Amino acid sequence: MHTQEPSVISPVIVPRAEHNISRSKISESALKVLYRLKSAGYESYLVGGGVRDLLLGREPKDFDVATNARPEEVRALFRNCRIIGRRFRLAHVQFGREIIEVATFRANRPVAQTAGSASENGRILRDNTYGTLEEDALRRDFSVNALYYDIRDFSVRDYVDGLADLHAGVLRLIGDPATRFREDPVRMLRAARFAAKLGFRVHPDTAAPIAELAPLLADIPPARLFEEILKLFLYGFGAQAFEHLRRYGLFARLFPRTDPLLDTEEQGFPHTFISRALASTDTRVREDKPVTPAFLFAALMWEPVRQRAAELETAGTRPAEALHQAADELVFEQIAHVALPRRFATPMIEIYQMQPRFLQREGKRPSRFLAHPRFRAAYDFLMLRAEAGEVDAELAGWWTRLQAAGTDAERELLVPVAAAPAGRRRRSRRRRRHKVSAPA
Ligand code: ATP
Ligand code: MG
Repeated sequence: MHTQEPSVISPVIVPRAEHNISRSKISESALKVLYRLKSAGYESYLVGGGVRDLLLGREPKDFDVATNARPEEVRALFRNCRIIGRRFRLAHVQFGREIIEVATFRANRPVAQTAGSASENGRILRDNTYGTLEEDALRRDFSVNALYYDIRDFSVRDYVDGLADLHAGVLRLIGDPATRFREDPVRMLRAARFAAKLGFRVHPDTAAPIAELAPLLADIPPARLFEEILKLFLYGFGAQAFEHLRRYGLFARLFPRTDPLLDTEEQGFPHTFISRALASTDTRVREDKPVTPAFLFAALMWEPVRQRAAELETAGTRPAEALHQAADELVFEQIAHVALPRRFATPMIEIYQMQPRFLQREGKRPSRFLAHPRFRAAYDFLMLRAEAGEVDAELAGWWTRLQAAGTDAERELLVPVAAAPAGRRRRSRRRRRHKVSAPA
């Protein structure tokens, strides 16, 4: 039973003339949802990243709506609406490829302290019930994410000093930081993400408990962590996000095998390897080129896989087999922390397994390799290794030229002379098979 009335805070209300949010910057679908709720007599606000990003003059990734209408009431207004979620039910209104998420105001009240209300790690479970607009503001994570754009008069409402933080470039968790991180440890990752994305600084009070609470990420379902990792690394600010995750001790919770190796780097490797991988992914995102979690995870796990393969080789396993086994072992283990769907894990392992093939430059093998559907990903990975100084620049350059060569005749010119006589080729190929070494 929740009988306690929350104390009402009066919001700061910024009228339309005093802020920069223009309706022309809000998606038509979001506007449709806001207006239809309003005409049906409900309150409706744009909230979250949409408002934050518009105030910052950035283009929002998506638009979220908050309302006092219940999910069924929302559904009654839109044909294209589905209700999702079990514990908190949300309405998704779909317009082509765009989904507007409509959430009913919720309150975040502590559950009566009975058995089972806190998880083993002291994570305080709270009951999410419907609430008022004020309560909805207080249950959100960061103050800059709790600003409401009112469709009635186009004003912005602020219950939590979010506007001041937004102007100061500060990420501040609403309420007591340790309590809020315990409630949902993913908020620690969100802090790193928004700090990177917005270039904001994490308020010292918000940052303080993170190092101690980082182990709570172990409670988060691997599938949710996977989603968060994509949001951290595949939206154009991954290199920054990585730095923040490292600084707060969060990276170790996501990639426990990779993290310790970052501290023992030699000549800037592998720390620079991952930074380079992320920087090149960031560039691709900015250039609107496709990026894949398979490549990203391949880069993040490369150092432990490489080292494990070397160990196995020392113990007598043949190089290609050592790489294969190391990849299988470590990827399997990693997936227990962060779910990596098979459609990404398979190509990720393939990127590793294809690396030794770059050492085979004779005969028809290079041409055949070029035609492999995953050649390009493996090649990009080779380039990364070359940039990090792990692979000979000559080798990398050769493959770059081979790829640029348009015709078979041009490619022939690049084939090393030693490969010419057919008889010798066969013999040397057999010999080479044993010599092919796992990437050193
Ligand atoms: P993005 O630009 O990534 O979409 P966002 O701030 O919109 O950023 P979402 O994950 O889309 O983030 O969530 C929308 C809003 O819901 C947030 O702005 C915040 O107010 C609230 N929210 C999301 N996740 C949490 C959470 N774990 N705890 C509290 N509030 C949350
Ligand atoms: Mg959003």
